[in-house]
Amino acid sequence: MDCIVGIDLGTTNSAVAFVEAGIPGILAAADGSRLMPSIVHYAASGAVCVGEEARRSQVLHPADTIYSVKRLMGRASAELDATDRDWPFAIADHEGKAAVLAGGKRRLPEEVSSEVLKALKLRAEAALGFAVSRAVITVPAYFNNAQREATKRAGQLAGWNVERVLNEPTAAALAYGLGRLQERSRVAVFDLGGGTFDLSILELREGMFEVLATHGDTRLGGDDIDRAVGDWIAAQVRVAGGPAQLDLTMAARVRMAAEAAKVALSAATETEITLPFLTAQFSFQRVLTRAELERIARPIIERTRGHCRQALSDAGVAAHELDQVILVGGQTRMPLVRRWVGEWFGCREYEELRGNLSMNDAERKGPALNTSQHPDEAVALGAAIQGAILSGAIGQVLLLDVTPLSLGVETFGGLMNVLIPRNTTIPTKAGELFTNAVDAQREMLVHVLQGERERAKDNWSLGRFALAFDAVPRGAARVGVQFEIDADGILHVLARDTKTGHEQRVKIESAVDVDDTKVQQMVEESVTNAFADWDARRWVESALRAREAVTAARQALAEMEAELPVETRDLVAQAIALAEAVLAAERDGMGDLPLLQQKIKQLDEATAPLADALMQRAMDELLRRRGVLS
Ligand code: ADP
Ligand code: MG
Repeated sequence: MDCIVGIDLGTTNSAVAFVEAGIPGILAAADGSRLMPSIVHYAASGAVCVGEEARRSQVLHPADTIYSVKRLMGRASAELDATDRDWPFAIADHEGKAAVLAGGKRRLPEEVSSEVLKALKLRAEAALGFAVSRAVITVPAYFNNAQREATKRAGQLAGWNVERVLNEPTAAALAYGLGRLQERSRVAVFDLGGGTFDLSILELREGMFEVLATHGDTRLGGDDIDRAVGDWIAAQVRVAGGPAQLDLTMAARVRMAAEAAKVALSAATETEITLPFLTAQFSFQRVLTRAELERIARPIIERTRGHCRQALSDAGVAAHELDQVILVGGQTRMPLVRRWVGEWFGCREYEELRGNLSMNDAERKGPALNTSQHPDEAVALGAAIQGAILSGAIGQVLLLDVTPLSLGVETFGGLMNVLIPRNTTIPTKAGELFTNAVDAQREMLVHVLQGERERAKDNWSLGRFALAFDAVPRGAARVGVQFEIDADGILHVLARDTKTGHEQRVKIESAVDVDDTKVQQMVEESVTNAFADWDARRWVESALRAREAVTAARQALAEMEAELPVETRDLVAQAIALAEAVLAAERDGMGDLPLLQQKIKQLDEATAPLADALMQRAMDELLRRRGVLS
């Protein structure tokens, strides 16, 4: 097999991905896990274990369990400072190069990393069901040549043919589909992982991303938050009468509990930290709220500010000139990080929060904060996309355009009637026949709508025009409305009166090329309002039916006045009045739906004898004409 997978060899976590039949996806382990901790444990027996298993060894064998080795990759011993040596395992020197000491042996960082890459190879082959040997591996944009070479060597040691060493922010931008942005678009990639932070500014030129600037801190990430939360726990432990000093094992347990609490608080607003039997006599238990976590984490997150400012200034770009800001790295799942980034970059979504409440959409100038991808999987997915491009599996990134939102027309009662559903591949064509709702109507108004909501007024109006036709009774006209979207994304609307052949055409340019964030907002609103919208549609439809039933009952009553017993007449008149009362109580296009349905049913029941009598009268008429009855 000639395929190329993509690998994110991260400081904290690694992942492998592949483009299958045009769709990039993470190759998961048999147990479903998608990320692999970049941790390697060297047992005294000589056995090596990697990933989750190695992570569990950390507590018991901290000196032989290597993590964050990416920091040492391709670096000279002489470059290391005190912070680079602050590990529970020993740092060694190998011919001037930084190395670690584990399992009684000196090992270069690329050797340690190759264990992770071997494990990823096994995982990929198990998931795919065939052997793979070609890979694209990502590195931070700031990696120098020696660091890139060491990464490549790590791949080769694991049995990979390393087809390309790709910049992480570029990979992320590919995964976010930003190759579709306009030429010269600029994006910021905010990557906050476990132990490193970097901000990169990319510019799209001829379909390729160029890194204009990158700035960051290789000592800033989720681990710092874990450490701060761990310190907080340690202080709480002391307050609660626990040990004043934590040994290595206790410290490791506290650190894990801190991280678990932090991760939980990205979804929940409070979580319980429990450390049973921290010592033989002491167990710890305490609730941590999201607000408390944010107070602890905020100063750490604020440390990204200077780097963001520096990267923008190096690139010569102002924040408002960016098209998008994308989030990468597991730590950006934290709501506080998203808020912070959104506000700092003046992203459209956050401008209102900054006091600009009066702004309408056109006035918003900030970049869009794009959170559409899983931040800790995007780099691997982007590497896989690059791999697929290199192997020719996706020749060029062929852009099959689809309609971002549904297109339709407004129908009687103010509802949206969809002609082309969202996500239809273009070019495309669809049509429907409509009729007149009112007697002697002289023209039909065609109101072109775009959106996912049930009611016309909640969708976007793309245009409206009138088609004249001959006065005919209600329901007799036949007007065909056809929507056609050509390959350039232009919507052609055609309305034709099938009787006279009279027609109208309009051209709408803005049907396909719609701002992504607005599309996202529209889709989200349609989901949030799904139940209310559905009720609104049912109300409008029931009200139409009720009005028809009332009109029909009135007509029948007038025609048969003489033949009906007075009780039947009264019953029908009363049912009409009741139904009309419910209709009259309609406010803002909504009323009491169950009550209306009940009244329709009552009216149907009350008019049943009328229908029978009408039928009898028609029969009599027929028989009389045939001379059977006199
Ligand atoms: P790296 O790029 O450094 O290999 P990742 O992108 O995988 O790392 O990010 C790892 C960091 O993300 C860790 O600090 C982890 O605790 C943090 N993290 C993962 N998921 C969440 C979450 N749901 N909420 C907050 N932080 C998270
Ligand atoms: Mg990363």
